[in-house]
Amino acid sequence: MIIGKPFLTTEQIQNKVKELADEISRDYEGQEILVVGILKGAFMFLSDIVKLIQVPMDLDFLVASSYIKTQSAGEMQIHADLREDIRGRHVLLIEDIVDTGITLNYLHKLLMERNPASLKICTFLDKKSCRKVEVDLDYIGYQIPDHYVVGYGLDYENKYRNLPYIAVFKEESAK
Ligand code: 5GP
Repeated sequence: MIIGKPFLTTEQIQNKVKELADEISRDYEGQEILVVGILKGAFMFLSDIVKLIQVPMDLDFLVASSYIKTQSAGEMQIHADLREDIRGRHVLLIEDIVDTGITLNYLHKLLMERNPASLKICTFLDKKSCRKVEVDLDYIGYQIPDHYVVGYGLDYENKYRNLPYIAVFKEESAK
């Protein structure tokens, strides 16, 4: 058995996504937003949450990574940048999980240089105890302990992203 039972079930995930979407809809009422998904990991969370956010939006994507296997490389790579000009727009970044904070700290600085009207961050999971650099998170789904998790968009070597739930992954059992 490579992966244990769900750590967060599909139902828990969907309930939390709805809660977050409602909060975001209230906060941005009367405004138009630009939702930016950080790929690949956020693709499933992004596609669920945008269906439930009740304000007009445009969508764009950033492909970024700072990870090698289950350890942070600590170095950021932007594989594909935004196509939209974010100047003067209300940008909402959607991330799957925050661990060291290196990815979002870097992306926040990068995007703030482009002068958005506002920039907020929504992450589905937060491993706060692993933080190495500071990052302000506006919307958090679940705080989780220091486990490596897969499923619901999250991978191990690009696998398991398609699981409809989130499970703890143990590297040694993959052999
Ligand atoms: P950070 O830069 O905050 O250390 O890490 C953010 C990125 O690392 C996430 O977008 C995700 O791709 C990856 N990551 C961090 N923790 C986990 C984890 O528990 N499981 C998976 N699959 N990826 C993780």
